Amino acid sequence: MTMLEVEDLEVYYDTERGAVKAVDGVSFRIEEGENVGVVGESGCGKSTLAKAIIGILPKNGYINGGSIYFDGEDLTDLPEKRRRELRWDEISMIAQSAMNALDPVYTIREQILEAIEAHHPKMGRTESQERIDEMFDLVGLDRERQTDYPHQFSGGMRQRAMIAMALVLEPSLILADEPTTALDVIMQDQILKRINGIQQEVNSSMMVITHDVAVVAETCDRVVVMYAGEIAEEGPSEAIFQRPYHPYTIGLKSAFPNIQRSNQDLVSIGGHPPDLHDPPTGCRFAERCPLATRQCVEEDPPEVETGDLRSYCHHVDDVDSQLRPVADSAE
Ligand code: ATP
Ligand code: MG
Repeated sequence: MTMLEVEDLEVYYDTERGAVKAVDGVSFRIEEGENVGVVGESGCGKSTLAKAIIGILPKNGYINGGSIYFDGEDLTDLPEKRRRELRWDEISMIAQSAMNALDPVYTIREQILEAIEAHHPKMGRTESQERIDEMFDLVGLDRERQTDYPHQFSGGMRQRAMIAMALVLEPSLILADEPTTALDVIMQDQILKRINGIQQEVNSSMMVITHDVAVVAETCDRVVVMYAGEIAEEGPSEAIFQRPYHPYTIGLKSAFPNIQRSNQDLVSIGGHPPDLHDPPTGCRFAERCPLATRQCVEEDPPEVETGDLRSYCHHVDDVDSQLRPVADSAE
């Protein structure tokens, strides 16, 4: 069953210089129980996509077009009351900046308790408290710190508190935006395993935004590669990591540290992504692409399917002969 279906989504920000087209025609699905990774360079629209789904865009952000169906219900056009019902209980988000997601005037315990009571008014105090204790244990926070205020926590502790809050009601869809960046490696691993464990228990789906390839390789069934507000390529994790077809993914792949060999040098793709106020016509990656031709600059890239991969590129057929030998020998 499809849990989330995003169709031709456009999310823009109003600025003094005009609209920033942060998400510009994005379509993808997440099936029930599936983990989908979203990767791409800084500024390509990953957080914007997550914020649009859960409905927490900043004031100058708006959905310009398209739809977001969650379990059959369009989230782009939802009354505030219904949105609050879904939040935490059905869809929860582990945000990139934990400080902004927690309310500074309430203790951590009060906030989690409030979320539980709002959605499960019949659950007794004892059971609610048990759940909070369980979550604190799970994310490795001392139970005695429940009565602290967010500012009394370190960045890593706040992130853990938010993970506790995001999981406590066992939502159907978890949006995780760089869920573990403020944590050390051992904690990252532990928390991700626990998130996956909970997920399997309740068959929830997850969208994970991360720069960390190891996280994607370990936890995601599928990967969406974004470039400058659009999807460049999408498919099963294995195919994306082992045999991608979009020149951008191939560039990223050699930019990512090798999953097996940990101390390989980072090689980044030369150049910068385009300005999203006024994105170029044709393929947005053309300026940085080793295979780019005039057609790439003039015409939007077609959607090309290779096995389970979906790639938006004019030159998918040239990748094997022209790009792969180079990329492979660079490994
Ligand atoms: P990162 O990996 O750094 O978190 P991201 O992929 O999450 O990046 P977004 O935060 O979604 O990127 O930003 C997408 C684009 O929208 C960027 O060009 C960014 O500058 C712009 N943007 C984000 N928030 C706003 C805002 N409130 N007002 C105007 N522009 C914004
Ligand atoms: Mg972000």
